[in-house]
Amino acid sequence: MKQEVGLRRIEPQTGVAFRMGRGDVLRVVDLEGEQVSDLMAFGPDGRETFSAGRSIDYNGTIRLTTGHVLYSNRSNPMLTIVADSCGVHDLLFAPCSPEMFVALYNFSPDHPSCFRNLADNLAAFGIDEDRIGTTFNTFMNAEMSPSGDLKVLPPVSRAGDAIELRAEMDLIVGLTACSAELSNNWRFKPIGYEVRPGG
Ligand SMILES: [Zn+2]
Repeated sequence: MKQEVGLRRIEPQTGVAFRMGRGDVLRVVDLEGEQVSDLMAFGPDGRETFSAGRSIDYNGTIRLTTGHVLYSNRSNPMLTIVADSCGVHDLLFAPCSPEMFVALYNFSPDHPSCFRNLADNLAAFGIDEDRIGTTFNTFMNAEMSPSGDLKVLPPVSRAGDAIELRAEMDLIVGLTACSAELSNNWRFKPIGYEVRPGG
């Protein structure tokens, strides 16, 4: 795909953290396809956090796409999805973590993880890692059976698919290129992102 001007790159199995002002638009791009990017957001005080549970409450769905809103633990709108060329994202799974890789796969605790990549980058903004809860997992494809069983499938996102989210308050955001084998069809790719200033 053509390199977009202004697009920053998150290297495979790493993460970033940055500030957004109210009205700014974050664009997250799956550069090569089939790559998950976990998103976590905090209010300026570092104590107001993205809440997957509240977001399910107010949207009435676990499939967030264009027009849906990500809410905080205080029930305030944090981000509105204003564009989405993929349409399949996950709101149920916690970010992959060292403990998870040991417990589920018997991998080394040194395995890179979204949790550590979020925690290490958000620490620069004074965010305590215990405040990192369930993330909004862009491009992650989890399927729920009628009985409630969950299965992680390869993302349906293709190279160049993107989701855009408008900040509804000033935010501190953590964003990753996910490190979990199963979620990314067993190949770790980079993620592109940019923050466009609000009008
Ligand atoms: Zn992950």
